[in-house]
Amino acid sequence: AAPASPVLTAHRLHARYGGFTALDGVGLDLFPGQITAVVGPNGAGKSTLFHCLAGSLRPARGTVGLDGQDITTLPAHARTRLGVARTFQQLAVFPSLTVAENVRVGAEQGRAGDPGAVERTLRLLGLDGPVRAVPAAGLPTGTLRRVELARVLAGAPRVLLLDEPAAGLDTAEVAALARVLKALAADGTAVLVVEHDLDLVAGLADVVQVMTAGRIIASGPPERVLDALETGAGP
Ligand code: ADP
Ligand code: MG
Repeated sequence: AAPASPVLTAHRLHARYGGFTALDGVGLDLFPGQITAVVGPNGAGKSTLFHCLAGSLRPARGTVGLDGQDITTLPAHARTRLGVARTFQQLAVFPSLTVAENVRVGAEQGRAGDPGAVERTLRLLGLDGPVRAVPAAGLPTGTLRRVELARVLAGAPRVLLLDEPAAGLDTAEVAALARVLKALAADGTAVLVVEHDLDLVAGLADVVQVMTAGRIIASGPPERVLDALETGAGP
């Protein structure tokens, strides 16, 4: 069951690219300990919503709140400091730094001062073996995705935003990712996943938000929402 108060809230977000409306009044609440998935066809506005939550895009209208404080105009790096962390659809690791060094950078960019966070995060993602000392350049995609996730988690985020985290992963890697996200949620992290892979969403999410054409058209537990999508019954 969801606790009473959301940690991150979006209220009536509108976003435009030139004359094109990409978000048309989107609202969303993220709760501690809950995994929320945003699904929908290409071009629905999922990444645009993600950018508004992460702070890399300023909505034309509407608000984003953290613990009831308005953070709509706060830039991304300031949100990261407050515990709103995101990964990038295009991987964002420092190629010349080792795996462990990348994770250390993440610890410094996040919420302050947990010296154990780097080691704990390397262990959580299975990066505490010899690979920790290897430069990120040239590592396979699956490993790089874990490095990126570790980099973000080392900052001890309270809200974790992931845009298509399963892209490029094999079945075993997707299963491992799901286990990590569930463990984080069990620890109280609010998790938002934008995802194409409906099988992953079905096994992972507590709440599914369905977007089309810049709006959320259905939301609820995956067994209800995803079944409606598959049978074409509508929301
Ligand atoms: P999704 O992530 O659901 O595929 P996006 O949020 O990336 O959707 O895009 C929503 C719509 O906005 C799409 O029609 C896309 O073409 C358009 N769009 C996204 N980014 C830009 C941009 N930088 N400039 C112009 N149009 C954009
Ligand atoms: Mg997208």
